[in-house]
Amino acid sequence: MIEIRRYESGLLSSNMYLVAEEGHALVIDPFADTAPAQGLKIDYILLTHEHYDHISGVNLWKEATGAPVFCSKACAKNIRNPKKNLACHFREFCELQTWVKLSGIPAVDPAYACEADLTFEEKTELRWQGHLLECFEIPGHSQGSIGMMLDGKDFFSGDSLMENTEIELRMPGGSRKMWETIGRERIEAIPDGTRIRPGHFKSFILHKPI
Ligand SMILES: [Zn+2]
Repeated sequence: MIEIRRYESGLLSSNMYLVAEEGHALVIDPFADTAPAQGLKIDYILLTHEHYDHISGVNLWKEATGAPVFCSKACAKNIRNPKKNLACHFREFCELQTWVKLSGIPAVDPAYACEADLTFEEKTELRWQGHLLECFEIPGHSQGSIGMMLDGKDFFSGDSLMENTEIELRMPGGSRKMWETIGRERIEAIPDGTRIRPGHFKSFILHKPI
């Protein structure tokens, strides 16, 4: 039986997910704590998008597990550059958020960069342990944002869909135009009743209209 676990980081409370089945697992948006991987064979490291709070553990997880990093081509390009993955300004960005406890922010490496191994454009499918992961681009919040639908039931939305939260389109690399012309439509096509597993905050069941 598939099991989906959520872990919250100290970086703007971003979510890392572990999807486990029969001793194998996928990790989504890893932060720098590999303890949850104990006893599991990590098959893929998946990224919803290029922002630092969603990729800060990639190098550590890659080293610890040897698993390939999978994301969109645009995300792959941006995670290699601390200006594009926002690492170089991340600490300042956290300080601007009034709800963030500054004492609780883990150390940020302003030169952080990482590399992808497998990339796609537009959409692709990943078959894993008898499960289907449908991945597609959702440009808007960032150039490299994607969504991943697991077996038509659980949707990993990154920062492109959160409960009662307006999607942030003003970060560097974000684009209201891309969101209005492409991203929003793809989000609106997600079926009613899907469990949404966002990049921040708890999961919820989608009830339309969004
Ligand atoms: Zn983001």
